[in-house]
Amino acid sequence: MKIAFIGLGHMGGPMAANLLKAGHAVTAFDLVPAALEAAKAAEGAEVVITMLPAAQHVKTVYLDDDGVLAGVAKGVPLVDSSTIDPATAKLVAAAAAKQGNPFADAPVSSGGGGAQAGTLTFMVGAGEALFETLRPVLSGMGKNMVRCGETGTGQIAKTCNNLLLGISMIGVAEAMKLGETLGIDPAKLASIVNTSTGRCWSSDTCNPYPGIIETAPASRGYSGGFGADLMLKDLGLAVDAARGAKQPVFMGALAQQLYQSMSQQGLGGIDFSGIIKLYGKN
Ligand code: NAD
Repeated sequence: MKIAFIGLGHMGGPMAANLLKAGHAVTAFDLVPAALEAAKAAEGAEVVITMLPAAQHVKTVYLDDDGVLAGVAKGVPLVDSSTIDPATAKLVAAAAAKQGNPFADAPVSSGGGGAQAGTLTFMVGAGEALFETLRPVLSGMGKNMVRCGETGTGQIAKTCNNLLLGISMIGVAEAMKLGETLGIDPAKLASIVNTSTGRCWSSDTCNPYPGIIETAPASRGYSGGFGADLMLKDLGLAVDAARGAKQPVFMGALAQQLYQSMSQQGLGGIDFSGIIKLYGKN
């Protein structure tokens, strides 16, 4: 299949490479000059996939005069895998529908490692027919594909997952730091938590205390992994969506402020598990 892939960053680069490996013909484009390239990339494509930083980039790439919608043929499915707000996903979907292009929001989980290995989880907001059309394409980049509901629901799932993840990491950091201060061996504490009711991904796979999990960013100076500024962006999406719906998110709002403080201290580029640094020196 002829696929146009737009946005070749940490995630998009390896995702596009995996589509090539899966036998698709991939035309890949990144920034400069952005919108013009997007229109060109979309010409002749049978599917267009975008993997961009945030909502404003998604709007530009699809909706600008020289954007994807200006170049793509009628009927070609459009897939946005960026993490953005559900409202923007719906806005782009509506514009695409006007000219006869089905649109799916399909954000991903599993980060850079999952993108490299082709084991991403796709949370897809799309009608059933579109979901089935996209399944063989997405399976070139991921292992799990979940249809969450109609357009926008993929972004809702992603927002809620990352809200929980951002909060759980802070909880683990706080508990590990308190344990250390009160005098228990952190490795012993982690092994107890990980076989007890406090266990979660943030404790047993990405523990923020250095040296506990060999493969965790904390054990290599918090490099790689999922940047704190990306987590801050995702918590912003959750808090904004919650405000729009008048749904309280007490912990999410606090978590947003803590990652903001991390960012202000110049730590926005390190893995989000580096939030443990707010609790004192490691
Ligand atoms: P990134 O910044 O590494 O890559 C984004 C790419 O988009 C960049 O190469 C940039 O040049 C390009 N771009 C920006 N505007 C463009 C335009 N107008 N036209 C063409 N290209 C343009 O970001 P990333 O880490 O690959 O993340 C992409 C999305 O995936 C984000 O929404 C992020 O929240 C989400 N995500 C990231 C991870 C992760 O671990 N990095 C995990 C899950 C989801």
